[in-house]
Amino acid sequence: MKIKTILAPFLLLAALSASGQPKVIAHRGYWDAPGSAQNSLRSLAKADSIGCYASEFDVWMTPDGVIMVNHDPTINKTEIQNTPSQTVLLEKLSNGETIPTLDQYLEAATKMPNMRLVCELKTHDSRQREVAAVSKILELVKKYGLEDRTDYITFSRDGFREFTKKAPKGTAVYYLSGDFVPEQIKHHKGRGIDYSIKTMRKHPEWIKQCHDLGLEVNVWTVNKPEDMAWCIEQGVDYITTNDPEGLQKMISELPEKPTPKKKKKN
Ligand code: MG
Repeated sequence: MKIKTILAPFLLLAALSASGQPKVIAHRGYWDAPGSAQNSLRSLAKADSIGCYASEFDVWMTPDGVIMVNHDPTINKTEIQNTPSQTVLLEKLSNGETIPTLDQYLEAATKMPNMRLVCELKTHDSRQREVAAVSKILELVKKYGLEDRTDYITFSRDGFREFTKKAPKGTAVYYLSGDFVPEQIKHHKGRGIDYSIKTMRKHPEWIKQCHDLGLEVNVWTVNKPEDMAWCIEQGVDYITTNDPEGLQKMISELPEKPTPKKKKKN
């Protein structure tokens, strides 16, 4: 590959302003760090320690109504949505922490006042379970006084509609699946789209369409420098990444936009 081709995204970046830059969201917390693990309390604290705008995490509900923080439907072969919470709570993450409950996660977040939370409801076996999970999640977020600092995302259409109906007015709810065009997101009262880099590369026109509709754009999971550069160049609002430090560095190195000179009055 020619060096010009490799450098192209970075050269484009050099022409961009540091203002209006996208905000950095740590995907499943900042887990690629010593002592951390995906969706661990440690990953939440690490994301806060490096000044992430927000930390994303995933949740499942057990049959007895306890919300657990975990990405996969199973932890060490235990299926969370079909196993009583007492049994699930015996399971450990790869860093030795016990699987956190949403209660524990939110309590920890109350001590991190500068960071937002992005809570992803995973797609459960039934609509009823998702409806119940949305109510439980909103109840817990309210209990910890985190309503102003918590956004919601989900691949589930039912979950998306439920959050937009039940969450307090002004709450940001984003849809992940990539099969709603911006007008549909607006129609369902979402805050915006949170689509994969693959989807956004196919539909870059959705970024402007969203902005014209007053919607926001988040892109996941953006780990390659050339994809980060593309997202910045396209003017997305948020980037969700497994490499929050790398992205922060790239954004911090953007040149400052020169301030326009004021016209002298006669
Ligand atoms: Mg997630």
